Amino acid sequence: PHPRGTAAATVDTHCPYCALQCGMGLRPASGEAASDVPLEVVERTAFDVNRGALCGKGRTAPALLSSRVRLTGPLVRRRPGGSLEPAGWEEALDRVVEGLSGVRAAHGPDAVGVFGGGGLTNEKAYALGKFARLVLGTSQIDYNGRFCMSSAAAALNRAFGLDRGLPFPLADVARTGCVILVGANPADTMPPALRYFTELRENGGKLIVVDPRRTRTAEQADLHLAPRPGTDLALALGMLHLVVAEGRVDEEFVAARTTGWAEARAAAMAHWPEWVERVTGVPVPALREAVAMFCDAESSMVLTARGPEQQSKGTDTVGSWINLCLATGRAGRPLSGYGCLTGQGNGQGGREHGQKADQLPGYRRLDDPAAREHVARVWGVDPQVLPKPGRSAYELLDALGTDVRALLLTGSNPVVSAPRAAHVTERIASLDFLAVCDVVLSETAELADVVLPVAQWAEETGTTTNLEGRVLLRRRAVSPPPGVRTDLEVLSALAARLGWERGFPSDPEEVFEELRRASAGGPADYSGITYRRVAEEDGVFWPCPLRPRLPAAGEDDGPAPDGPPAPHPGTPRLFLDRFATEDGRARFVPVTHRPSAEEPDADHPLLLTTGRVPAHYQSGAQTRRVAELNAAEPGPFVQLHPRLAERVGVAEGDPVAVVSRRGRAVAPARITPDIRPDTVFMPFHWPGAGRANTLTNPALDPVSRMPEFKVCAVRVEAAGSG
Ligand code: SF4
Repeated sequence: PHPRGTAAATVDTHCPYCALQCGMGLRPASGEAASDVPLEVVERTAFDVNRGALCGKGRTAPALLSSRVRLTGPLVRRRPGGSLEPAGWEEALDRVVEGLSGVRAAHGPDAVGVFGGGGLTNEKAYALGKFARLVLGTSQIDYNGRFCMSSAAAALNRAFGLDRGLPFPLADVARTGCVILVGANPADTMPPALRYFTELRENGGKLIVVDPRRTRTAEQADLHLAPRPGTDLALALGMLHLVVAEGRVDEEFVAARTTGWAEARAAAMAHWPEWVERVTGVPVPALREAVAMFCDAESSMVLTARGPEQQSKGTDTVGSWINLCLATGRAGRPLSGYGCLTGQGNGQGGREHGQKADQLPGYRRLDDPAAREHVARVWGVDPQVLPKPGRSAYELLDALGTDVRALLLTGSNPVVSAPRAAHVTERIASLDFLAVCDVVLSETAELADVVLPVAQWAEETGTTTNLEGRVLLRRRAVSPPPGVRTDLEVLSALAARLGWERGFPSDPEEVFEELRRASAGGPADYSGITYRRVAEEDGVFWPCPLRPRLPAAGEDDGPAPDGPPAPHPGTPRLFLDRFATEDGRARFVPVTHRPSAEEPDADHPLLLTTGRVPAHYQSGAQTRRVAELNAAEPGPFVQLHPRLAERVGVAEGDPVAVVSRRGRAVAPARITPDIRPDTVFMPFHWPGAGRANTLTNPALDPVSRMPEFKVCAVRVEAAGSG
């Protein structure tokens, strides 16, 4: 056996990175490679989401397991201004307890904050929320998923009464008649998913891509609409206006399955197509063509990603696309509907189990008395002890060093990934105490008082819920190095030291069993899902209640006549009979266009939009440390149109300064006609001088509290060669 205790045979698991959660096999490495990396990736074609295909990130994921830059022991800053020094676990945990409880004693429980991540497993997300609210007694917990899909989540809840990113399996995408992909670039962000769009077109379906850049996804589209950043809402209103004007409303569906159409219709009719053309830059004939493609197909879908969602009007923007689906009867029907392509590895599950400022496990609302009662019963406490909702992610980061003076952070790197990042970095640096759990010394961990090294994905077992709402099992394939613990073990040890006497399990399956009980009866009901089922069925879609539902006429999965009732099969497709609202009808919400929080002016005449590149994931804390990925994309860049480059006086590769009201970032120019001349693009994976989030605007959506990552006013300048 390998010294790290690798399993003898191939272990079926899932990728550590994005929300597609591609299936992969891990087996002990052989030959020369074995001395460097304990595991190698093998194809797992049986998992139908990716059928064996992986992108470069998934393929190279084992490299970080034995990387020299991974953390293999705790680090402690023993004096203010000193450096981080190696320490034992006892000292490190004692320091964390001292730091958190010292602040709590001096300033009250809400002076202690917890910040989680959308890449944490379901078990960790659940345990972190419970730890914050019960062990620390603080309301101040949120996570970086707030920066990811919170606008789509808010709009889904508002319209359908339930937030599951995709209400149907990805396979349906290939079988529908038309897909409008808004602000999504799966060709770069989740390449194996591109095949669904390719198959869609091979089957005769149409693909419309809405993106200010001609991305590799847009290149495959039948129609590419390139609106000015921040105007997707106006674009959807223009399409809805044309749907009404051209008599394409599905009146029967609207009458039978929705409420609120009159107000939404009036709002759309106030937005004339010619006005929409002026605001968005998309010509009226292209709008008409999009409407025809969408409505002429027998079934159609709208899928959004971060483009329309990361705006200070993200919830309304997503709502405008949902309205388009509802008015045309393209929701709650087979092969039709609205869906969100979640980004982070557990972006879906990470928002369901209680690490969000306003939520309890089972996707229950923290301000709902019945929800508090249920979860308190599972936790064996009085509902009164559960804190109220806390600050959202950016508001929490903004309060560091003032109202919130100590922070426990895991699974996130806000120094790189938060908006207005220089300010956030200052706030983090001003904390009385910071503890960070991570696998590497991230830019945020560098500022910590204590860094706790935690296990990587292949070194622990746990569940994630992919972008389809399918609960999956990641299996441990190798032991963590000595000196490394799992996040669950860290929380368990801290809980014990902080005086929590009722036990705080660190075994993932034990935590999942508790999560099942806590979720029972909630919107995201996992009570019928077990590790055994997930393993045997290679994923189970929630909701999946413990008790079998009554079978619909003609279904064959109901109780056997003389045997035990069949388990609930899970729910791959939602809303086919009714939406999850009280009256079962979907809700139109009247939305109107409003400008972005920051519009161009004489000083900042251009718009900046940000996004990802194929080689890197999120803040790049992991992927920047994988040699092959780093070689593929070693640093940031500024994408700009040739006309703009000429005006500014820069050639390909020249350093360009991008300046917003919050700061300046410098990176080499990449000149391409595939971007609007009024827009520049920067990927956000890097720290330092080229950090895109130095520039971004923290203006928040009033409903989802999502910052406006996707649009802010900037100017660009040649930065000179020095
Ligand atoms: Fe991993 Fe996403 Fe790449 Fe699949 S597409 S291999 S889940 S990063």
